[in-house]
Amino acid sequence: MRYLSTVGRSEPVALDTALRRGLAPDGGLYVPEHLPEFHFADLADCRSLAETAHRVLTPFLRDSSLLESLEDITQEALDLPLPLIEFERGRSWMLELFHGPTAAFKDFAARFLAACMTRLRAPDEPVQTIVVATSGDTGGAVAAAFHRRPGFRVVILYPRGRVSARQAHQLGAFGDNVHTFCVAGDFDDCQRLAKRALNDPELVERLRLTSANSISIGRLLPQVTYYAHASVQLFRRTSAAADVIVPTGNLGNALACVLARRLGLPIGEIVLATNANRTLSDYFDGQDYRGRPGLATLANAMDVGDPSNFERLAWFYRDQDLRNSDIRAFSVSDEVIRRTVQEVDQRYHMEICPHTACAVEVLHMRRKYGHYRPHLVAATAHPAKFDEVVEPLLGRAVEPPPALATLLARNSRAEDLVADFAVMRQRLLALASH
Ligand SMILES: *Cc1c(COP(=O)(O)O)cnc(C)c1O
Repeated sequence: MRYLSTVGRSEPVALDTALRRGLAPDGGLYVPEHLPEFHFADLADCRSLAETAHRVLTPFLRDSSLLESLEDITQEALDLPLPLIEFERGRSWMLELFHGPTAAFKDFAARFLAACMTRLRAPDEPVQTIVVATSGDTGGAVAAAFHRRPGFRVVILYPRGRVSARQAHQLGAFGDNVHTFCVAGDFDDCQRLAKRALNDPELVERLRLTSANSISIGRLLPQVTYYAHASVQLFRRTSAAADVIVPTGNLGNALACVLARRLGLPIGEIVLATNANRTLSDYFDGQDYRGRPGLATLANAMDVGDPSNFERLAWFYRDQDLRNSDIRAFSVSDEVIRRTVQEVDQRYHMEICPHTACAVEVLHMRRKYGHYRPHLVAATAHPAKFDEVVEPLLGRAVEPPPALATLLARNSRAEDLVADFAVMRQRLLALASH
């Protein structure tokens, strides 16, 4: 399997190269040349996510030096709990994606990427730098996955005041080979800085820069596997292809669901639930695609005004009208997020994070308009990560899971940075000379 650039002006490459580079030399995002086909029955006997992942990812790694380690990689990286919680009898399930070390779904992808990159590294290779712009959760997941891994350094860029206090604490709590920058700007500024760094030949050369953002194909592939695993499990119970609602920001998680469906797995409609950032809902309402600055909302990990994976989505639908496809998008306001967090607590006795609340609200709207099919709702983070939002709404404390509690007990440190590429460039070059 080779990987093409969405821009189409650079050579197709093997997975190993796509993983090392992050971004294609022409500035495009890597996409698989073709998609393998699976039938429900091909995966019906897989008992764990790691097993499903091994089967689903094998064709994607066909020409990769990683193929023979794939079983180890999936065991090491994807052996995380993946509960499927029924909350409307026989009709709705929550797919809890937050049982990894940093309590958000980003752990699956970050751990997979780290397991791959560690195996791709030659023992005498100079230190590689993973640069990651984060709206709150990616940075922590990537830091946790690469923390103290020899041969790697992590540079995190997060937007000041746009992440929760616990997220900020977590981002600065690693130290060692993890360098955390608190940027005066929004997530899109952080993403622009990261992209410029990755397109700067001297930086790339001196720091051996590579990306771990959702633009990396190594993030997308592992995320396909939990939709594959969950959709097959649900199909076994309901004999129906569930519609899937995905809390969406940069479109990485939802795109993985789109790919899982394209592989032939039993997934019905895919519904993108965004916060007040309306880029996607406006587009699916019939407007032209228009990237814009990100608005700050309660679901801050989705404060994205110009989702970078849109380019990949458009590429996969290049022969079709994306707006007349089986993908929908709806936007949810902060006010409704608050109400939904409370409703879900009262109705189902479940504590959810503000991102997951966007998806549950979209489910409630669909029920109201007569969609009675089974639904799978992706729950993207543990509510304790967003305690400032959730606790006042519930009127009680939300207990952090043990891994998160351990990180919160550590000291935390971040360096302030203006959103200026020249300044960041100097800081990065200084890191390289140490
Ligand atoms: C990153 C994140 C999202 C958005 O995921 P994308 O892949 O960027 O669309 C949603 N919820 C949480 C909790 C996140 O951390």
